Amino acid sequence: MSGVRIKAGRTISNNWFLLKIALEEAPLFTIEQLSTRARHEIIVFVEHIYMIGYIIDSIQYGRPFAEVFWFVLAVFSFVTLVAQVLPNYVETKLKPVSKEKIRRRIRKELYRKAAEMDLKNYDDPEYYNEFVWAMGEAAERTDGVIGSCATLIGEIIGIVVVAAYVLTQDVLGLVLTCVSVVGLLVLTNLYKKHWISFMEKLKPLERKRDYISRVFYLQEYAKELRMSHVKPKLYQEFHEAAGQIRELAKKETRKLQILEMCVQYGCSRLLFDGIYLTWLLFQAIVKGAFGYGTAVTLYNSCGRLQNCSRGLARVLTDFPEHGRYIEKIRHFLECPVEIGQREEAESVEAVFSDLSLNHVSFAYPGCEPVLKDISLTIHRGERVAFVGYNGAGKTTLVKLLLRLYDVTEGSITCGGRDIRNLKLDEYRGQFATLFQDYQLFAATLGENIVMDRVPIEEGKAEPLLEKSGFDSKFAKLPAGYDTALTREFEEDGVSFSGGESQMVGICRSLYQDSSVIVLDEPSSALDPLSEYNLNHTMMNLDREKTVIFISHRLSTTRLADRIYMLEDGRIVEEGSHEELMKLDGKYASMFRMQMEKYR
Ligand code: ADP
Repeated sequence: MSGVRIKAGRTISNNWFLLKIALEEAPLFTIEQLSTRARHEIIVFVEHIYMIGYIIDSIQYGRPFAEVFWFVLAVFSFVTLVAQVLPNYVETKLKPVSKEKIRRRIRKELYRKAAEMDLKNYDDPEYYNEFVWAMGEAAERTDGVIGSCATLIGEIIGIVVVAAYVLTQDVLGLVLTCVSVVGLLVLTNLYKKHWISFMEKLKPLERKRDYISRVFYLQEYAKELRMSHVKPKLYQEFHEAAGQIRELAKKETRKLQILEMCVQYGCSRLLFDGIYLTWLLFQAIVKGAFGYGTAVTLYNSCGRLQNCSRGLARVLTDFPEHGRYIEKIRHFLECPVEIGQREEAESVEAVFSDLSLNHVSFAYPGCEPVLKDISLTIHRGERVAFVGYNGAGKTTLVKLLLRLYDVTEGSITCGGRDIRNLKLDEYRGQFATLFQDYQLFAATLGENIVMDRVPIEEGKAEPLLEKSGFDSKFAKLPAGYDTALTREFEEDGVSFSGGESQMVGICRSLYQDSSVIVLDEPSSALDPLSEYNLNHTMMNLDREKTVIFISHRLSTTRLADRIYMLEDGRIVEEGSHEELMKLDGKYASMFRMQMEKYR
């Protein structure tokens, strides 16, 4: 991204995008921050440049003491107020609240977008990286934009004030400053280019080194690390990456140092400490053109002018950089949602009806089709199982049913109406799901079951705990439904085993008042007894509810009313367990193979 150029107009609009949010959310704080550097520049000029010259001139020309005293007192009072009292108030009172307000607004927009964005975006690595990056960076980038704008305003005001003063006293000072500024601009630009190229070379090496570091400290790698011989290979790769980083830093920083020296000594020391200082001394001492104080003020002013110009040159290159990063945030926020809530969509009927797939084909973006010409109908109250080997397309088919993706060809209808024309939240609200990669959240057990803000209805939950096989574990939990899950926020948070977590997941899907329950590999982590209980529970659920299972464990699915066997994205067999066994085809052979294993 650092190499991508965006137009100047878009750069300004991108920077304004974050600045506007800050101004809307915390106007007082933002304006104060924007004026920080300007105040600083004025203070530096008045207190450190003009006042010193004024005092020296007063001594040289014998100005009345009272006049000098009142002037100095006025300057100190102004400086104390602007540089100490005001920043102190902002730092302690305004800053914490205001920063939080700005962060909250940005995060809220990002979360809203993340929750509604199409699932297919997760499959696009570039978009996904952008999304992860935007989440981490957006709030901090706002500080960066405010800081750069403050510097820009400050440096411009500094230049205007000081240049006006120098112009009234000595034109040569201004000419020399202009020459040095042009040199500075050219060299600083060169410096920045080298720096970016250095960073670009460094990034892949750092990524590799950081990946290996993560492998050593992240929990998910801990077991493999101990049980395999991968460590020496990782150590070697780590040393190689670290060595390459060292070499690169040595080589590239040398170039940067040389450039920095040219900036420091060529444009600054030679022109000012050499040529201009000699000129000033000659004018003040030999020719008596102005007082010593004025000479000191002019010398300091030109130094200041140079610093401000340098700061201005630097800060101007910050904006395109902010612009490039904000572009990512905006691209993420402005990306259209394809599967979204449409105003004109129809309401889903209170009673959820049959679901039909009509010649459905589907391909993930940029991939070969994974489902091909599938037609089937799931009737209300049926127990339907999709079986088949890994990669056959079972989960994908269910994702289409849930409208997490839209079909590439054909259509899915609910009670005869295309699901693309139905209100999305109402449609999805009819399903309770338990995915293979379901998540328990860092919240209480009750909240993990209800998945809403309302408290758990105990009378409703207890039978479900029993049905899901979780009742015996539940009896041992000291805080019952209030038990905190995971140790993310609570020291004494409880971690469940895979099987126990799956039972909580099952309980969650049974608790929802849904018309359809979708269970993706619901028994993968269960022991045989729990699996038997789960099958029993599912078969004895209220007949109003439709149940859709996905599994390659046929012991879970054999009791289903209808079984669809998928292979390579197509339905190859369908019927009840008995019918399919009689058919003696692929299902029967898969079933027999699995039974052999458990014998
Ligand atoms: P199953 O549930 O039967 O194991 P899936 O529906 O998960 O099969 O996967 C079917 C095929 O789709 C597999 O080849 C898998 O690699 C591919 N696939 C699944 N998810 C994605 C995705 N997000 N992007 C690209 N291909 C995918």
